Amino acid sequence: MQEAPAPTGPHALLRNHELRRTPPRLRVLALLFESERHLSITEVCEQLSTSGRAVHPTTVYRTLETFTAVGLAHAVHGPGATRYGITGDPHHHTVCQRCGRVEGLASEHLTEAAARIAALTGLRPDSSGALLVYGRCPGCSA
Ligand SMILES: [Zn+2]
Ligand SMILES: [Zn+2]
Repeated sequence: MQEAPAPTGPHALLRNHELRRTPPRLRVLALLFESERHLSITEVCEQLSTSGRAVHPTTVYRTLETFTAVGLAHAVHGPGATRYGITGDPHHHTVCQRCGRVEGLASEHLTEAAARIAALTGLRPDSSGALLVYGRCPGCSA
């Protein structure tokens, strides 16, 4: 017997986390999926509004707090506004110290660094989200 494929997509994820599938939640989640980026509340509001799916900022804030609480999304606190990303494939983060832009960096690229940290300090970094690398993004280092 074949196993059913792991459910993906906003509807399935909300169901898996026993969250009610309200239109604002589906819109915010779909946006995070589509953009494949880490977005601030302001960016979420702007992009939803641009695509004709506007959600009130307070609702966006509460929605992202809910997603973070159940582990569906995660918050990255850098300089400037907190950015939110989907918790999916294991990844660490790069943060621009100037504009606050947050990018995901697949954990598989950092396994050697994680092993080195463990060897040097005895601390084993978590496989996802443990490493924050600060610097200047391409737009800010020009
Ligand atoms: Zn992330
Ligand atoms: Zn930057």
